[in-house]
Amino acid sequence: MNMDLKNTDLQISNLIDEELSRQINTLEMIASENFTSKAVMEAAGSVLTNKYAEGYPGRRYYGGCESVDKIEDIARDRLNELFNCEYSNVQPHSGSQANMGVFNTFLSHGDTVMGLDLSHGGHLTHGSKVNFSGQSYNFISYQIDQKTGRVDFEQVNRLAKEFKPKLIICGGSAYPRFIEFEQFSEIAKSVGAYLMADIAHPSGLVASGLHPTPWPYCDVVTSTTHKTLRGPRGGIILMGKDFENKWGIVAPKSQRTKMVSELIDSAVMPGMQGGPLMHIIGAKAVAFKEALSPSFKEYCSQVILNAKHLSNKMIDLDYDIVSGGTDTHLILIDLSNKNLTGKYVENRLEIAGITTNKNMVPFDKKSPMITSGIRIGTPALTTRGMKESEMTKISELINNVIINIDNDAILYKIREEVKELCKEYPLNMEYQNEMS
Ligand SMILES: *Cc1c(COP(=O)(O)O)cnc(C)c1O
Repeated sequence: MNMDLKNTDLQISNLIDEELSRQINTLEMIASENFTSKAVMEAAGSVLTNKYAEGYPGRRYYGGCESVDKIEDIARDRLNELFNCEYSNVQPHSGSQANMGVFNTFLSHGDTVMGLDLSHGGHLTHGSKVNFSGQSYNFISYQIDQKTGRVDFEQVNRLAKEFKPKLIICGGSAYPRFIEFEQFSEIAKSVGAYLMADIAHPSGLVASGLHPTPWPYCDVVTSTTHKTLRGPRGGIILMGKDFENKWGIVAPKSQRTKMVSELIDSAVMPGMQGGPLMHIIGAKAVAFKEALSPSFKEYCSQVILNAKHLSNKMIDLDYDIVSGGTDTHLILIDLSNKNLTGKYVENRLEIAGITTNKNMVPFDKKSPMITSGIRIGTPALTTRGMKESEMTKISELINNVIINIDNDAILYKIREEVKELCKEYPLNMEYQNEMS
């Protein structure tokens, strides 16, 4: 396939092949990763990458936008249908950019915002000191209840009353349970705060109706498109029905009063980005069409079945699962009872061909670079077609790595078993044939 690339740049071409071979021959269990379809990749690798289209459909700063205007309109229409909403913005380059766009719209620098503590499963953009969010806004973090492994709503309520945030963020990167939109909404309303849901992780499950919907509880929703939604890397911003009526008109920083939707549009472009990535917007449109199909719902329901099954099997093997299980695609394993660190287990699993990531667990005593936990997810393996019986097998493989953690020879043997399992569930036949 990469004949042109091979001739132009053998070095990069070979490294892409090397990465492809890694994807084919290992078990991808990073909860935020997935495998896009060939159709999505075709759009992402298309001539749309050549086009400058600053602005929005019908009001661009460049000529020659007839086709890309239609593409962005289709992307937005499909997205509105997918999430049952009336406003969407498909231009944010990433999930982080989507969050920045919302902050730029609703907040001024120095405003108080509440989000889930990073070490309890929140995201970098929910107030980390090394991120623009923590540097530009006064973030107050809420945490997980140690007993239940779920959001501590008593604390959320207390902090909200005490600090009067302008915005509350719900959702995170390592939260295995359904996001409690309604409970957050009651608290946000009681203090007059906007409620933003960051559904970067479960958005595919939300789209297919297998996770509760953020409407009518949330004012604004952000997401990535590349996690459970299975599209190209990117971000989106959404608002539900009647949002303009609900809020009236937001007073802007400039003299002219604008509608909320207009404010979000301009917070994204020109507020923080220039030209949109039209090849990615094209690929987003393709992914949204796929996500609207009945087979995507089947896929998502299998993702959840697999995660629940895997979680139960790990519990049977004496693993400590944060919150005691999962509602979603994601499982957080606390390794404290095994006397192992997340860093070491991630590294040893990788030698055995199982890709995961170390992750802090709530109330972790170890640093973010070491951690006491690993986070695993089922979206990518489910895309390969794996089901419950493979999850049973994988729980045994993971356990075998952990009980033989220092034994290189056994880990290499497990890697061979992993490779066999991967062969049964090819990533993509066309690529596979080319590679072998
Ligand atoms: C992944 C993630 C993001 C950001 O996504 P990027 O595309 O990597 O910037 C934002 N919020 C949450 C909760 C996430 O999990």
